[in-house]
Amino acid sequence: MVAKNGSTDPQEDHGDGDAGDRFWLYDLRVEVVSVPGREMVCNHPEGSYFELRGENLHLPPGQPFPIYPLAALLPLLPAKQRSTHANDWMTTDMDIACPDPHCGALFRIRRTGRRVFRHSEVTAVPLTRSSTPEPSGEGEEP
Ligand SMILES: [Zn+2]
Repeated sequence: MVAKNGSTDPQEDHGDGDAGDRFWLYDLRVEVVSVPGREMVCNHPEGSYFELRGENLHLPPGQPFPIYPLAALLPLLPAKQRSTHANDWMTTDMDIACPDPHCGALFRIRRTGRRVFRHSEVTAVPLTRSSTPEPSGEGEEP
């Protein structure tokens, strides 16, 4: 993947996320919230945050963010950037617990906007419609 910032220009968003080689991802903000009655023991004060726009993390000037909770959050962020089914837990669940079992922090992931990208600008892999078939049905009930 090539580092690009995408665009929040609504003229570039055709609504279906599939016009030409365009697609969109949600911008995310991940903010520390405390659980009442639980002590926060890590170096992530309540209200500290980072934002994810495309593949890039953004921190407020002068505000650090510890790597251990970041490592726990990273696998979830690309999924939260993408459109998910209304019934999918990935759509509804937004609080992730700190990986330190003694810490009472939660990390609240919010979708803050949408950013448009072009396939041709973020990968060298050619776009071929037949290479990624969509599933034909809803799948089996669990
Ligand atoms: Zn913590």
